Amino acid sequence: MPELPEVETIVRAVKPYAEGKKIQAIRSDTPRLFRECKSFGAVKKAVEGKRIIALERIGKNIVFRLDGEYDLWLHLMMSGSLLTGREAGKETYIRMEIELDNGKKILFRDIRKFGRVRLVEKIDTSMRLGPDALVVSFSQFAYIIQRKKKAVKTVLLDQSLVCGIGNIYADEILWYAGVMPLRNTDSLSMEEIKKIYKYMNTVLSAAIRVAGTSFRDYRKPDGSEGGYFAARKVYQRTGEACAKDGALIQRTIIAQRGTHFCPAHQL
Ligand SMILES: [Zn+2]
Repeated sequence: MPELPEVETIVRAVKPYAEGKKIQAIRSDTPRLFRECKSFGAVKKAVEGKRIIALERIGKNIVFRLDGEYDLWLHLMMSGSLLTGREAGKETYIRMEIELDNGKKILFRDIRKFGRVRLVEKIDTSMRLGPDALVVSFSQFAYIIQRKKKAVKTVLLDQSLVCGIGNIYADEILWYAGVMPLRNTDSLSMEEIKKIYKYMNTVLSAAIRVAGTSFRDYRKPDGSEGGYFAARKVYQRTGEACAKDGALIQRTIIAQRGTHFCPAHQL
């Protein structure tokens, strides 16, 4: 699943291509993509002819800031990716095509059709997303962590608390921080919260530098693969030796998600 680093990588790549251009046309043969909108027709009406003022990432959402009444929010969900500079006919699984006024296209490719488009009114405050993981200050983060009395991994995954972290990076961050994913947040020391915060930043930044985790269907907009997956320490390394101490990585389920940890150094 594309997480913050993958989405950030996509946004950085597509930004120069999209910003300042007008949306000439939007096409789709996948009504499911617009399940949270009135209809595809309503989306078409709201975005065609509008200029893309900015392309941003908010948590794991790609946000097309438009000069109209609405912004277009795209969530890649499980298998989505954005492609640019390619002919629609040569690609498979294209669920949406945004044609720009210079004739170029932004394609949304999604094998499993879990992706989601939303029209968000500029004044709408119902999105309920917490601060972005790369932007949140330490004091804000510590407050969020301490306020919740839940497994620390569950808190990291909750987009309404801090947005952008998903399953892969939650496991990686906790491995580096030496904290067991099941630990209740009210048992964490300030020292441990500091470590989680520190590694949240270093892990996400490192992943952005190597352009995301190439995992399953994730691709950068130019179609190439990202490079974090090979460097991961714990995610999907069940039964392998921990890089720190050689203990065997174990797997459990937290918040319905496969969770990987080292039983030796994660306390
Ligand atoms: Zn270990």
